[in-house]
Amino acid sequence: MFIDPELPDQEFPDEVDRVLEVAGMITVFAAERLVRIDQMRREALAEATRNGRVLTDVVERGVRLELASALRVTEHAAGGLLAFAEAMVHSFPPVLRSMERASITEDHARVLVTALSEIEPGFHATVLAKGLELAEREPVGTFRRKLRTLIDTARSATLRERYEDAVTKRRSVIEAADDGMGWLHVYGPIVAIHAVHARATGMAKAIRAADVPDAGAAPDRRTLEQVRTDVILDLLVDGRTDLHPEAARGITATVTVTVPALALLHDTDESRAAAAIEPPVIEGMVPIPLTVAKELAGSATGWTRVLTHPETGMVLSVGRDRYRPPPALAKLARWRADRCMGPGCGMPASRCEVDHNIDWARLGHTALDNLAPLCKGHHIVRHHTDWTIEQVAESGGAIRWTSPTGRQYLVEPERRVPVFRATSSNGTGDAPF
Ligand SMILES: [Zn+2]
Repeated sequence: MFIDPELPDQEFPDEVDRVLEVAGMITVFAAERLVRIDQMRREALAEATRNGRVLTDVVERGVRLELASALRVTEHAAGGLLAFAEAMVHSFPPVLRSMERASITEDHARVLVTALSEIEPGFHATVLAKGLELAEREPVGTFRRKLRTLIDTARSATLRERYEDAVTKRRSVIEAADDGMGWLHVYGPIVAIHAVHARATGMAKAIRAADVPDAGAAPDRRTLEQVRTDVILDLLVDGRTDLHPEAARGITATVTVTVPALALLHDTDESRAAAAIEPPVIEGMVPIPLTVAKELAGSATGWTRVLTHPETGMVLSVGRDRYRPPPALAKLARWRADRCMGPGCGMPASRCEVDHNIDWARLGHTALDNLAPLCKGHHIVRHHTDWTIEQVAESGGAIRWTSPTGRQYLVEPERRVPVFRATSSNGTGDAPF
């Protein structure tokens, strides 16, 4: 997302600029704080060396306590700051430079440096250069997602080996929480994790829809979140579904997997090369190994398969014949965006409503170039406040938001679909769709 260069003339500075100004100053000072924290650490280590002490964890620990006491934060927080400052100053100085210019926020810097610290040094140069470009352009939530895709794509050449190693570490862990509650963490293949959540969600929705209380009986006041959790617990505790209403039985999971068409054709060097450039991904753009994707694509039910090459016969528009987009069209609009098309929003498209960008009442068409998924919150903002949106013509699905103060933000879809043009039969020219 960026400020659109084709801004109409506006009267700046305004109140938003006044906020931006001080936010920039905070970032510049935050960068200076990191520089000084690292300076303090190095001084203390040098001092210890001069006094003939061996540089051990004990010395580091003393520095940590000094910083924690001075800043009145926990030692854990102080340790995090020391490590962050050291990484910024010594390992990734371009990130520090960018923060000193207030081109990125401290949050962006932390996300980027944490990610860089966790990957193999061989990928540092690529990820640092492209990651910084993203950080200077995207809101932090979008940035985190795109950075993860960037890293995964860079590392996808070794995805299969890493997956096979990781899958041996699958496990489940209990974590006690307060007030008689607790967490069950299950670490497993992301495809199966999505399937569990999708099935429980499907069953919970069916249970809520089927809940027609008898006369005098108390209505079921549980939220979807509560019902979904109850479903998961019921199934795991005694595995019985006969306690659930008829409508909630026999529901299976649907998970969307996107596979590059070329990669699916044959198990050839060419298909493997295609998968390395553009790995198969599951909802939320998490790459999965080609072998896993192929297994899913081969199975008949339960998986929505989307190919990244448009298939012929795809429904792109039903004009004004119907308001509600046919499933294939809604699915394509969601697939293209992958997320809510609100600025910086991370809500998966599968949980969004499909918006007519030009209202149906204002003669908007039910067509791909007029549809975009929006979460409930952003759908409300778009319809009931002074924010306005428009789909940028022939952009393949980009949405331009205009704020009440006149600022414009461009939200790009995760994927592009080509803009198809059909020559009209009377030869009067090209018409989209
Ligand atoms: Zn949203």
